[in-house]
Amino acid sequence: MTRSKLIAGNWKMNGLAASTAELDKIIAGSRDLPARVEVLVCPPFTLIDRFADRAERSRVAIGAQDVHAKESGAHTGCISAAMLRDAGASHVIVGHSERRTDQKESDAEVQAKAAAVIAAGLIAIVCVGETEAERDAGEATAVVGRQLAGSLPAGATAANLVVAYEPVWAIGTGRTPSTADVAEMHAFIRGRLRAQLGGEGEGVRILYGGSVKASNAAELLAVPDVDGALVGGASLTAEQFLPIGQAV
Ligand code: PEP
Repeated sequence: MTRSKLIAGNWKMNGLAASTAELDKIIAGSRDLPARVEVLVCPPFTLIDRFADRAERSRVAIGAQDVHAKESGAHTGCISAAMLRDAGASHVIVGHSERRTDQKESDAEVQAKAAAVIAAGLIAIVCVGETEAERDAGEATAVVGRQLAGSLPAGATAANLVVAYEPVWAIGTGRTPSTADVAEMHAFIRGRLRAQLGGEGEGVRILYGGSVKASNAAELLAVPDVDGALVGGASLTAEQFLPIGQAV
């Protein structure tokens, strides 16, 4: 099965109105990327509306980094999936390891958020990944298997779900797993997706995330079942982000 490649940028807590200039460069440069590459930029909530306007009729989609699981109500400071759609987002990252750690998000919360994203007609990018201690203990696949079982919403399809495998120890550290380890984990995730989602599991894209940059992108993106990348630091500038798409 041919799955198009998704190169997604997670801007985390970075970006002000002036960052629109960088988005413009990403939009302009994306015109030269290979046809089967999709580009997504997930800025902070405050920039989604502005970025979505800017990216209209371009190859760059705009997404969010989190969402509240409820549709509306007394949840001060929170943002619903309908609000994100209204602002112009098409994708929402849920269960990023920084939120699983800092906000103590459980698999059940991540699952509820992913379900809310899908119910609003958006695409959920569900993040999973083991810590270094878990990998050293030989528990990496067990941990990821548990996260997939607990975090993926029932009824998800290839059209509304993306999974991002992000080993926690590789995020922002400059370290990456060997391509053999990435291949083993992505094959494991593919098997779990088939088991949990039936035929749809074959079409769900599995991104690799963790210190992806221009110099290692070609090698990582060539691994079987790596259907794209979730990129943090290197997504903040067109200069570093676009070569990752070119590496496909
Ligand atoms: C991330 O936070 O999702 C990420 C992959 O970050 P970085 O690329 O900076 O390691």
